[in-house]
Amino acid sequence: MTKTIFQKIIDREVPSKILFEDDKCIVIEDIAPKAPTHLLVIPKKPIKKLSEVKPDDKNLLGHLMIVISEITKQLNIEDAFNIIINNGEEAGQTVFHLHIHILAGKNFSEFFPG
Ligand code: 5GP
Repeated sequence: MTKTIFQKIIDREVPSKILFEDDKCIVIEDIAPKAPTHLLVIPKKPIKKLSEVKPDDKNLLGHLMIVISEITKQLNIEDAFNIIINNGEEAGQTVFHLHIHILAGKNFSEFFPG
């Protein structure tokens, strides 16, 4: 099976700016940022997309949320960020290794008016 670009980054075959790493995930800067801060939280487990997660992934998914909470605090953006998961090609997913976008410094509220 060919590796996705994110698997190559995890395996250090492709360079990337890694902001955080532990045994379960990495956080990198997006190569083509859509906002002043645009990070990707990527589990090391190669899950293709959110719709393929299993009940066993519950702890991993919770962990990713905790990492988002911690890293946004470290970057002082904890009060103003959005997270996005594109699931499936028609929804804009281009890399088929689950990842969560963290976006900050740009107001996306027009897309999600309260
Ligand atoms: P998706 O569209 O699948 O939700 O998001 C994939 C994201 O990965 C895009 O925002 C794209 O800019 C980013 N990306 C694609 N290739 C690379 C790469 O080689 N390095 C980094 N850091 N980000 C990448």
